[in-house]
Amino acid sequence: MGFLDKLFRRDRLASKQDEDLCDLCGHAFNPHELKGYGEVPLEGWMECPVDGCDCHRTWSFDEASRPAIEQHKRDNDLG
Ligand SMILES: [Zn+2]
Ligand SMILES: [Zn+2]
Repeated sequence: MGFLDKLFRRDRLASKQDEDLCDLCGHAFNPHELKGYGEVPLEGWMECPVDGCDCHRTWSFDEASRPAIEQHKRDNDLG
């Protein structure tokens, strides 16, 4: 394997890993806890579970997304 191939592979690995990290705090993204307002949340926030991390990011959907969220809620038996 050539030097460039190795470099390319390493870059690909690095960028794949980046997808799993929170771009605000740099911790793993998946454990972030999703919180929302109300029965069918159209907006809310995420909290990083790492001790002492004050990462706090908000998210929101527009009203058109409500049916999809309700469906998702039923499918996953949330709440
Ligand atoms: Zn964090
Ligand atoms: Zn975070």
